[in-house]
Amino acid sequence: MSTSNTKKVLFQNDVIEGLLAYCKDTHPLEGILLMRGEVNKREIRVKSLMIPPIPTHSEHFSSFQWHMVPLDASILGIAHSHPNGVIWPSEVDLINFLGRLMAIVGPPYLSEADIGVFDSEGNPARFSVV
Ligand SMILES: [Zn+2]
Repeated sequence: MSTSNTKKVLFQNDVIEGLLAYCKDTHPLEGILLMRGEVNKREIRVKSLMIPPIPTHSEHFSSFQWHMVPLDASILGIAHSHPNGVIWPSEVDLINFLGRLMAIVGPPYLSEADIGVFDSEGNPARFSVV
């Protein structure tokens, strides 16, 4: 039984813009950012982005330094890009799932329509921009 699916997921507009800009910059390589914010009974609010320790701009998500991720309760999950445009988590993404949310960004990196948000089971999560 999980209650996470019933929580509203909110992204601040500046987070969406930062995410799109960062992933556009790293294209055609994969960009990876940590999403930080707050969780309460009703909602998960993504408030800021953080460049992970030892940022790796690679073509393969698996090269991320997972053991370097700080143990910080404000980290909600990982956002990364799929330069191939498939806005869906890969098997490797799900195995390496961290936190509560995963965001996947694809070209042309223009709006929230280019961002997919998923829960820890890989199900698409609805989100709103505030
Ligand atoms: Zn991926």
